[in-house]
Amino acid sequence: MGLSPTIIEDRMKAIRREVPDGVTIVAVSKFQPIENLKSAYNAGQRAFGESRVQELLEKIPLMPSDVKWHFIGHLQTNKVKSLIGKTFLIESVDSLKLLELIDKESREKNVVTDLLLQVHVASEETKFGFSKEEILAFFLSGKYRYLKSVHICGLMAMATNTENTDKIREDFRNAAEIYHEIQRICEDNKEFKILSMGMSGDWSIAIEEGSNEVRIGSSIFGARY
Ligand SMILES: *Cc1c(COP(=O)(O)O)cnc(C)c1O
Repeated sequence: MGLSPTIIEDRMKAIRREVPDGVTIVAVSKFQPIENLKSAYNAGQRAFGESRVQELLEKIPLMPSDVKWHFIGHLQTNKVKSLIGKTFLIESVDSLKLLELIDKESREKNVVTDLLLQVHVASEETKFGFSKEEILAFFLSGKYRYLKSVHICGLMAMATNTENTDKIREDFRNAAEIYHEIQRICEDNKEFKILSMGMSGDWSIAIEEGSNEVRIGSSIFGARY
C-alpha cells in the first residue's frame, strides 16, 4: 500500500518548510504512480526527478506543463535522442562520450541542454561518474568551450551508502571541493552554479557541506515498489 494523497501533501509541505531558501528541492518520483506526483504538485512542488527515460516520457503528458523535469538516472547512449528537449536539467552525465553525444543531439534538435556532470566521490565501485582527476583535467583542457549546445551548470554527487555520517560528510566535502575548484578554473562559465547532493537520508549533511540542490524521494513518497 502506498501513502495517501494527504500524507504525501503533508510530507511535501513539511520538507519544503525544512529545506532552507536557496536550496532547490527535486522530488524524486521514479517508480511512483502519477497520483503521487500530483499530490506533491498540489503541495507546491514543481521540480521532479526521474531515472528512466521511458518512464519520464510517459509521465510528461500526464502532468501540468510547468513541471521541471530532472533526469537523474544512468543515461544510456541509445536513449539520448529521445530525451533531448524534454528536460529542465540532466543531472547524471557520467562520461565525456555521453556529454559529447548530448551536445551533438541538442545541436541537431536546435536546443541547448542544461546538465550537470556526475562526480564519483563514494567508496563503492559501482557508482557512476567522473573521477576527480578526470573532471579537473576536462576543465583544465578548456574543451568545455567547444560544446556549444550544452550548458554545464554544475555537479551532481552521491555519498557512500553507509550509516557512518562522518564518511557521508567527507564524501560531500570532497564533492564540494571539486565544485569550487572547477569554479576557479573556469571563471568565465557563469552557468556553473549548481551543486546537487543529498537524498532522503543525508540531505541536511549535504546542505551543511554546501549543496544547493537536494534530490528527495522516499521521505516524500514512501517506499518505491
Ligand atoms: C533514487 C535517487 C534519489 C532519491 O533517493 P531517496 O533515498 O529515495 O531520497 C536521489 N538521487 C538519485 C540519483 C537517485 O537515483
